[in-house]
Amino acid sequence: MVHDETYEQRLMRARSFDAGDELAVFRNEFHLPKQENGEPVLYFVGNSLGLQPKRTESYIAEELTKWRELGVRGHFECERPWMPYHEFLSETMAELVGAQPNEVVMMNSLTTNLHLMLATFYRPTQTRHKILIEDHAFPSDFQAASSQVVWNGFDPAHSLLVLPTEETTAAINEEAIIETIHREGSQLALVMLPGVQYYTGQVFPMERIAAAAHAVGAKVGFDLAHAAGNIRIHLHDWDVDFAVWCSYKYLNSGPGSVGGCFVHERHASNVDLPRLAGWWGHDKGTRFKMKNEFKAIPTAEGWQLSNPPILSLAAIRASLDVFKEAGGMSPLIGKSTLLTQYLDVQLRNRLGDRIKVLTPESGRGCQLSLEIDCGDLPGKQVHRQLDASGVETDWREPNVIRVAPVPLYNSFEDCFHFVEKLAGCVEA
Ligand SMILES: *Cc1c(COP(=O)(O)O)cnc(C)c1O
Repeated sequence: MVHDETYEQRLMRARSFDAGDELAVFRNEFHLPKQENGEPVLYFVGNSLGLQPKRTESYIAEELTKWRELGVRGHFECERPWMPYHEFLSETMAELVGAQPNEVVMMNSLTTNLHLMLATFYRPTQTRHKILIEDHAFPSDFQAASSQVVWNGFDPAHSLLVLPTEETTAAINEEAIIETIHREGSQLALVMLPGVQYYTGQVFPMERIAAAAHAVGAKVGFDLAHAAGNIRIHLHDWDVDFAVWCSYKYLNSGPGSVGGCFVHERHASNVDLPRLAGWWGHDKGTRFKMKNEFKAIPTAEGWQLSNPPILSLAAIRASLDVFKEAGGMSPLIGKSTLLTQYLDVQLRNRLGDRIKVLTPESGRGCQLSLEIDCGDLPGKQVHRQLDASGVETDWREPNVIRVAPVPLYNSFEDCFHFVEKLAGCVEA
């Protein structure tokens, strides 16, 4: 039996998996934070802040040099001018979320983009005014939806439709989502759900939800904060109306870096769609005529407001180049599935009586949410002990430790050591 193996045997097996992993070399593309003793930490919080690619520094330095040496002319007269700089990101970014380049733009931050999308796609009427969201939505998503309801003159008590979570697992039942959409159909203006639930790691069936929402005449938008760079997404083919995400989690672009936005081509090409506009969304050919007019760019770029922060976009470009070199999402998901499966099995074998994996096996990315059930030992204490032993995980009230083995830089050996250290904490 696997759990009768010795420490050495288990370690050797983890190392043999790493030896057979073609993506293992990409770990060396990243800076691993160090503990006080100089050893690298076991980093499992790429779902919260992805690690820094080693090349990011030189990509940012390139822009600082341009600024230093060219000043304002850096907008035009150089190899990668700032004026169209965001366009250099669109193709790779679009591939990662299953979109066409004209459907994707990197701009602002996640919550700002959510508001911009709601301004266009949440147009409530007296009969159709409800937004379907999940219970335990990320606070910012709840606050954005709720404030948009109020902003439009409606009452969240009537117009926010909250999907309940299951008591024991905190999961949301797929059939319940579809039933609710059918039941509320005629009053439903918008379905706004995550691609991956941040607390449980549950993946939502986006294609099915989009089809159900459209069948009752509602729009559908997804928050991909925990999905972009983590799971397989086909925004265009799934006919999603809009999506937003951030770039500092699985997309490794640095704290507070610029977010992403998807608008389906059939909307993006409609320049008459109402929106909150700014000059960077205006027709590029006449932008600098400085006239009192707005002629939207007929792509997702038509929702841009301002000229973007280039230093942040440079960090995104560095990160996207790493994804491209790794071969995009397909190989990464292949490894992610094996790595997460390995971690899950080790946890069940070693600690199944004290640690419950909340994340549904049938639908997950690389995040596992662990419910800690160790009698008198509080989960928060377990998390603190892990922290002190050089393992970076993430604590979420009331009782969950989230761990994300990220295929770009985590190894099977990382997962092995995590389980050993966790066992040390809860068996002590
Ligand atoms: C991380 C995250 C956010 C963060 O929003 P910002 O606007 O980037 O600060 C919002 N929603 C979800 C679901 C998230 O996971």
